[in-house]
Amino acid sequence: MTNNIFDALGLKKAVIKAIKNLGYQTPTPVQAQLIPVALKGRDALTCAQTGSGKTAAYCIPVFSYLSEHEDKTALIIAPTRELAQQIQSVFKQLAQGTEINTALITGGKNMQGQLRKLKNGARVVIGTPGRLNDHLKRKSLKLDNTAITVWDETDRMLDLGFAAQIEDIVLHLPQEKQTLMLSATFPPRVIKLAEKYLNNPEKIIIGTLNNPTENVEQKTIKIEGNEKLKKLTEILVSAKGQCLVFVKTQRAAAEITRYLKKNLFDAAALHGGLKQKDRDAAVKGFRENGFKIMIATDVAARGLDIPTIATVINYELPQNPEEYIHRLGRTGRYDKTGICINLIARADRAQWKEIKNFIEKSSVTAKKILENTAFETQKTQLQTPSDADLSKQNHLKTQKIKPDKPVKTQAQIKSVKSSPDMPEQNKDTYIFTPFKKVYVGKLKEPIKKVQRNKKPIIPSKTYGKKTKRH
Ligand code: AMP
Repeated sequence: MTNNIFDALGLKKAVIKAIKNLGYQTPTPVQAQLIPVALKGRDALTCAQTGSGKTAAYCIPVFSYLSEHEDKTALIIAPTRELAQQIQSVFKQLAQGTEINTALITGGKNMQGQLRKLKNGARVVIGTPGRLNDHLKRKSLKLDNTAITVWDETDRMLDLGFAAQIEDIVLHLPQEKQTLMLSATFPPRVIKLAEKYLNNPEKIIIGTLNNPTENVEQKTIKIEGNEKLKKLTEILVSAKGQCLVFVKTQRAAAEITRYLKKNLFDAAALHGGLKQKDRDAAVKGFRENGFKIMIATDVAARGLDIPTIATVINYELPQNPEEYIHRLGRTGRYDKTGICINLIARADRAQWKEIKNFIEKSSVTAKKILENTAFETQKTQLQTPSDADLSKQNHLKTQKIKPDKPVKTQAQIKSVKSSPDMPEQNKDTYIFTPFKKVYVGKLKEPIKKVQRNKKPIIPSKTYGKKTKRH
C-alpha cells in the first residue's frame, strides 16, 4: 500500500475527518489514483484487484461531492443484494453524523420501507438493477438530480442478464453526470460496451488487468472418479480459518450443506433460492464468525468483504472465467493472505483450461482494447420525457414502431430498438430535432444538418467536453 496520506489527495478537512470513521490511515493505490480524478468530476474506468479498497475509492469522492452540493444525489449500482448492503454500510460509516442519507434499493427487502426512504429524499441510492427498475416504473424513484453514478462490478453489469436493465436505468439519468466504473475484471468483450456510457474517462489500472490478487496462493487438486466430496471433507477438516466453498447450482449448495451438517461440520448455504432473511442470516453468521464453512453459488463471488475467510474452494468451477478471479478474491483481502483450492475432475478440465487461458491472455488483449478505445463517441443516453404517461402508451409495447418514426416514451424507444428494421449498429444512437422529436437509430450526420439551422430543444450531448455538474 502507498505511503501517501489522505491529506495529499485534495480532500476537504470534513471529508478527511469522515474517513477517520472508516479507520483508514493511508489510501490504497486505487484510492490514491481514483479519488483525485473523481474529485475533478472526470468519468473513470477503474480496474483494481479484489480486496484493494475500491469501495472507499468511490464512496469518498461521492461523499465529498454531496457534502458540497445539497441539491444533488448519487446512484450506486451493484450486482447482488449482499454487495449493495455492504456498500451502504461503508457509506453510512463515512457519512455518520451528517445529513447525507442512503436508501438501499434491492430485491427481497420490504417495498414500503424503500418507498419511505425514497420519499424522504435519500441522497445516495444504492441498489441492484431489478429493484431500481421496479421503483423507476412506479415513479417512486426519480433520478433527475443524480450528479454521480457508480457502477460497481461494471463488467457484470454490462454482461448479458443485466445489460437491458442497466439500459433502462440509464434512460432515466440526466445527460450531465459523472460516471465511475469499477471492477477487478474487464474482459475484452465488455470494454467496448462500456464505451457508450463514458465520456472521455480516465483509465486507471492497478496491477495486472484481469489477474487474481497476488495475496492468494492457488492450488489445484486432480480428482479421480467420484472422489470430490470425500476430498472436500478432508480439506475442510484440516483447513484453518473460515472456508468459502463455491458450487454451480442452488441445489448443489443445499445438498452439500446438508451433507456437511450431517457429518457435524459447522456449515451454512448461501444462494439465490433462499428467502432474503435466510440470505441475510447466512452472511451475518459468516461475517460474525458464527460458523466455519459457507457453501455458496456465485451470488457470493463478487465484492463480499469478509476478512476472516482464509480459504476459498472451487468445488465446481465458474461458468465465466472472470468469475474465478472474483471467487478467489473473497480471501486475501487488503493486506491479508489466503489460499484458493481448485478441485479439478476430468469433466472440469476444459473449463479449467479456459480459465487459465483467460488469466494468461486477456490482460494483454483487454489492455490493448482499452488503449485503443477513445471513449469519446456519441453518447446515447436520452432524458426520458418525465411527463410521459406510460400507461397510456402500453399498447405500443406490443406494436413495433419503425426506426424512422419519432418517439417520446421509453416504451416507444424500446419498441423501435427491437424493430426488425433496426440495424444492430444504429440501435443505440439518437437524434433530437428542433421540434422536440426523438429518433432512435439515426446516425450522427442528420443531427448536424438539423443543428446548423436551429438549436435542438433536447440538446444532443457534446462529446469530449469536460463533464459538468450542477
Ligand atoms: P474493498 O476492496 O473496498 O472491499 O476493501 C477491502 C478491504 O480493505 C475492506 O475490509 C476495507 O475495509 C479495507 N480497506 C479499504 N481501504 C483501506 C485503507 N485505506 N486502509 C485500510 N483498510 C482499507
